[in-house]
Amino acid sequence: RSMVVSLIGRPNVGKSSLFNRLMQKQHKAITHDQPGVTRDRHYGITTIEDLQDVDAADIILVDTGGFYPERIDERGRNSEEENANKFFNIMTDHARMAIGESDLVLFVVDVREGALPFDNTIADYIRTTKKPFLVVANKYDSDKQAGEEIDFYSLGIDSDELFTTSATHGRGVTFLREKIQRLA
Ligand code: GDP
Ligand code: MG
Repeated sequence: RSMVVSLIGRPNVGKSSLFNRLMQKQHKAITHDQPGVTRDRHYGITTIEDLQDVDAADIILVDTGGFYPERIDERGRNSEEENANKFFNIMTDHARMAIGESDLVLFVVDVREGALPFDNTIADYIRTTKKPFLVVANKYDSDKQAGEEIDFYSLGIDSDELFTTSATHGRGVTFLREKIQRLA
């Protein structure tokens, strides 16, 4: 069994860090404090070993540069203003293409920031594609943050579609891998 899974969301929420965690010891993505380090799509394959009740699955993970607020609704390309934003445009296009080629979308959000209006815009966009998605509330580093993820129910998701992770500490990542495996 195999499945294509993409990491989508605003810049800096931890998509590339999560990619690295989900890949385990395999090929790593570039992470950086500055938004915009991942320009295009970055692929990796990871095998999730079989569990007692679920067979192993090969997961093709796709890391993306993410969605930028200023460009999500714009389709025109050639004005000077567009050219000035070409770099960001390309990233958003790649995010769209990544969703298009996915069987499952991991919509990564920052639990510290809560659900921002632009997160809603992204959720709405993913829904238009009819692709199944899970919301991954990342930067959940400590139990002190318990309950903060509840804010993301405003994105219109069910409790079995909301996951908390800390890409930094690895917290929640095994649980998320198992969920992905069950969906493969
Ligand atoms: P991306 O732009 O969505 O790919 O985000 P990155 O993976 O490049 O991470 C952006 C910044 O957030 C980096 O400084 C990461 O170290 C940091 N970061 C990523 N995941 C976590 C996390 O779970 N907890 C904390 N505290 N920081 C994180
Ligand atoms: Mg990145």
